[in-house]
Amino acid sequence: MAQVELEKVTKIYDNKVVAVKEATFTVNDKEFCVLLGPSGCGKTTTLRMIAGLEEVTSGIIKIDGKIVNDVEPKDRDIAMVFQNYALYPHMTVYENMAFGLKLRKFPKDEIDRRVREAARILGIEDLLDRKPRQLSGGQRQRVAVGRAIVRNPKVFLFDEPLSNLDAKLRVQMRSELKKLHHRLGATIIYVTHDQVEAMTMADKIVVMKDGVIQQIGTPFEVYNKP
Ligand code: ADP
Ligand code: ADP
Repeated sequence: MAQVELEKVTKIYDNKVVAVKEATFTVNDKEFCVLLGPSGCGKTTTLRMIAGLEEVTSGIIKIDGKIVNDVEPKDRDIAMVFQNYALYPHMTVYENMAFGLKLRKFPKDEIDRRVREAARILGIEDLLDRKPRQLSGGQRQRVAVGRAIVRNPKVFLFDEPLSNLDAKLRVQMRSELKKLHHRLGATIIYVTHDQVEAMTMADKIVVMKDGVIQQIGTPFEVYNKP
C-alpha cells in the first residue's frame, strides 16, 4: 500500500515567491500520476515537498494516511530520480547503486543481491564497474533509476527524468519506465512539461499553472475537456 495525499499544500519561498498554492490531490496505490505544466509552475517544488527535501509553508502531506510533514526524507520510504541523475562521478555504477543502502546499514550480501537484481531488470549488468563518465545518457538514466529501485520504496518520484535524452531514446525510455511501473507495482509521481509524455504514461494527470492546480483527471478527461 502506498497512497500519497496533499491537502492545501502551499510553498512560499523567501516570504514572497508563491511556488505552490493550496495544492490538493491524492495519488492512489500503484497509480502513475503525472504532474504536468510549464516551467516554473511549481512541479519540482511539489515533488521536493513530498520527498521532504523542502518544508511546506502550510498544508498537510500524508503517506498511507500518516502525516509526514515532520518526517525526515530518509524515513519517508520514498526514492527520487533527479533530472540530472545526480550520480556520484567518482563512484562506479555498482557503488552508486549501493550507496543509499550502505548509508542505511544494509548487510553487504543484501546490498549485493539488490544491486544485481536491479541491474538485471534495467539491463545494465555489464556496466557495474564503469564510472558515470563512461556511460551514455540512456545508461546514466538507467543507473539513476536503479539507485531508486534498490531501495524498494513505497513511492517513486521522477523529476523530468527523460528531458536530457534525445528524442528517440526518450520514446524508448517512456515505454521502459511504464513496463517497470507494472513490474514493480509501485506508486509513481512523475513530473514533466511534455504533454505527450503525460498522455502516454499517466493513469492520472495533475495539471499545474502558476503554482495552482488547474485540472485533475485521466489523460482522456484532461485532453477532452472543453
Ligand atoms: P517547475 O518545476 O514547474 O519548473 P519550480 O517548482 O522549480 O517549478 O518553481 C516554482 C517557482 O518557485 C518558480 O517561480 C521558481 O523560480 C521558484 N523557486 C523554486 N525554487 C526556489 C528557491 N529555492 N528559492 C526561491 N524561489 C524558488
Ligand atoms: P569489500 O569492501 O570487501 O571490498 P565490496 O563492498 O567492494 O567489498 O563488495 C561487496 C560485494 O559487492 C562483492 O560480492 C563484490 O563482488 C560486489 N562488488 C563490489 N563492487 C563491485 C563492482 N564494481 N562490480 C560488481 N560487483 C561488485
